[in-house]
Amino acid sequence: MSFDATVVAEEIARFDGVRVRLNEPMSAHTTLGVGGPADVYVEVADEEGLVSVIRYVSTHDVPRLVVGDGANLLVSDRGIRGVVLSLVGDFQRVKVEEPYIEAGAGARLSTVADLAADSNLAGFEPVGVVPGTVGGAIVMNAGTHAGYIDQIVRDVHAIDELGNKLVLSRDECGFSYRSSRFQRDDSLIITKAVFRLHPGDGAEIRKLLERVRRHRAESQPRGKSAGCFFKNPPASSSSEQPQSGYCLSAGKLIEQAGCKGLSRGDAVVSEVHANFIINRGNATARDILALAEDVRRIVKEKTGIELEYEVRIVGEWSEEVKS
Ligand SMILES: Cc1cc2nc3c(=O)[nH]c(=O)nc-3n(C[C@H](O)[C@H](O)[C@H](O)COP(=O)(O)OP(=O)(O)OC[C@H]3O[C@@H](n4cnc5c(N)ncnc54)[C@H](O)[C@@H]3O)c2cc1C
Repeated sequence: MSFDATVVAEEIARFDGVRVRLNEPMSAHTTLGVGGPADVYVEVADEEGLVSVIRYVSTHDVPRLVVGDGANLLVSDRGIRGVVLSLVGDFQRVKVEEPYIEAGAGARLSTVADLAADSNLAGFEPVGVVPGTVGGAIVMNAGTHAGYIDQIVRDVHAIDELGNKLVLSRDECGFSYRSSRFQRDDSLIITKAVFRLHPGDGAEIRKLLERVRRHRAESQPRGKSAGCFFKNPPASSSSEQPQSGYCLSAGKLIEQAGCKGLSRGDAVVSEVHANFIINRGNATARDILALAEDVRRIVKEKTGIELEYEVRIVGEWSEEVKS
């Protein structure tokens, strides 16, 4: 990997529909509030601009990463080498064609949920209370105990590394618990998704959204976090990780292992919900990862269970931190 970030930034800035910044601090783009600089941070406002950037980085061998709202990201203190793409403008549009909603990958889930309620369309509520964008939610198969995004996806539109446009059916998205094919195949950038909803009572949907959002705001830990840090492990080694079936609670395992309140620097395991790691203010990404590794080690020692990260760990990490 060899590229000159200034040259890359200058060349990408020539394309229509893009805004480019050099050495953009990723701490400003993650809910954990940590992360060093992205070499070249590109806001792309339309599909033509995105295709141009993708073709450029692919032919010049420049690494790239797409981010949504950074609600599930732990970015290293050293930052991210190459190009970081953020989808704005056209990618934030949401359109209703009953009973479907078409939403750009950069649209917030809350925006989609509110529009669905205004249009008397039900089905988006379980996902509409989760922080983040449509693109990030599809990659993570985000949701709550009431339902996951895969249950309402009709199809997903994406662009591959050659700039070709693809439409993937729900089955082709390879959804499973907190996962999708997009985690295994990062050559695809999601541009939009179509959701299949059903007729509902807008006032009731709005009431439900407000109630759940209020409950989450009151009951979830306060402070900077990425939500649940670890996936819930399957109840037995033979069982597949179920969407809604029987699985263990990672939070309970961490609490029972005595990890609540454990800290490294300004990173702490929440006293309210043990699966949340909170940045109390000045935590570094290194503090957070070291604490998460402490938690994994202690839970493994006490229960024999190996916790798997739900949070996506990205960027340039030094070997001693990773090990
Ligand atoms: C307080 C809090 C509570 C939370 N509660 C929940 C919850 O109840 N349920 C739940 O499921 N999650 C929860 N989360 C986690 C988070 O909200 C979800 O994982 C969400 O889907 C992340 O969306 P994002 O847009 O922020 O994606 P990011 O964190 O920015 O990215 C996530 C992954 O998607 C990739 N990506 C993003 N956009 C695209 C794209 N267009 N094309 C290809 N790849 C892309 C990124 O590269 C990364 O690998 C919570 C987080 C917080 C901070």
